[in-house]
Amino acid sequence: MLPENLNGEPLTCLKCGTYNLPTATRCAHCNAPLLIPDENLGTQLRLSARTSAGKVRSSNEDSLGIWSVDGLVLALVADGMGGAAAGEEASRLVVESVQASFTGSERGGDQLAALSEDELLKRLQTAIERANCAVVERARRDISRRGMGTTATLALVRNNRVLAAHVGDSRLYLVDARDRTIRQITSDHSFVQALVASGHLTLEQARRHPMGHVLYRALGQSTELEIDLHRHTLQSDDRIVLCSDGLTRHLEDCDIAEIVLRTENPTEATLDLIELANERGGEDNISAIVIHLGRAEGAQSR
Ligand code: CA
Repeated sequence: MLPENLNGEPLTCLKCGTYNLPTATRCAHCNAPLLIPDENLGTQLRLSARTSAGKVRSSNEDSLGIWSVDGLVLALVADGMGGAAAGEEASRLVVESVQASFTGSERGGDQLAALSEDELLKRLQTAIERANCAVVERARRDISRRGMGTTATLALVRNNRVLAAHVGDSRLYLVDARDRTIRQITSDHSFVQALVASGHLTLEQARRHPMGHVLYRALGQSTELEIDLHRHTLQSDDRIVLCSDGLTRHLEDCDIAEIVLRTENPTEATLDLIELANERGGEDNISAIVIHLGRAEGAQSR
């Protein structure tokens, strides 16, 4: 059941799987600590996830997930493809599969705080591999869903570290609050991006390219899947943004940085990001997750 006054997507408890408000410090069902302050760093994660079908499409093939326990956060953007019904199904399967990989004591969902970073990265990778197999299997059994696929960008934030596993052209950005810069952490696994990397297209040509959204790597193609892994250190006040290409189709990196840096409230930030993408045409489904490494209430500035 969804909580009342939900503004965006719900925050799921990694211990019991209950939906909470995205501001919850304790799970409404099992009372597990969710977005609690980090005593050592004097920081506290705040977040918001939001999706919109956009202005052109009648269905939304993007699926999002945000989970938490013990002050750490897991966030996922999946952008499905292969026709409306198939795309919706593919991205939904990824959220469901990632949730099943992490939630509950038997999955160690409440022990993530104690794992090493290498173990956590392995967990992220395995979760994407399982999700991929779920999509491949569904497409194999149901001929109407043949050809379905999805992106998956899965990030875990613990203390001041962000770890990520990624396939496709959804993106993970790091927005540095001190020098007000934005950096795309993930690479787009699209043909057009490969042509840019090899110097055959300029960024401007890539932006207008009719094949701009065709991927050479996605979940659902084969049980063999290469997954990119990333790890980075955050400083207090930095923001992380996960998004689908429906956002980056209309917003430049500098637009994203400007919007997420002008407010400390991620709920406002995701609202503003999606509103601007819709104002500029909303040609595709738009999804955005903003995570802010804020200062904990009452913590000394450092
Ligand atoms: Ca898309």
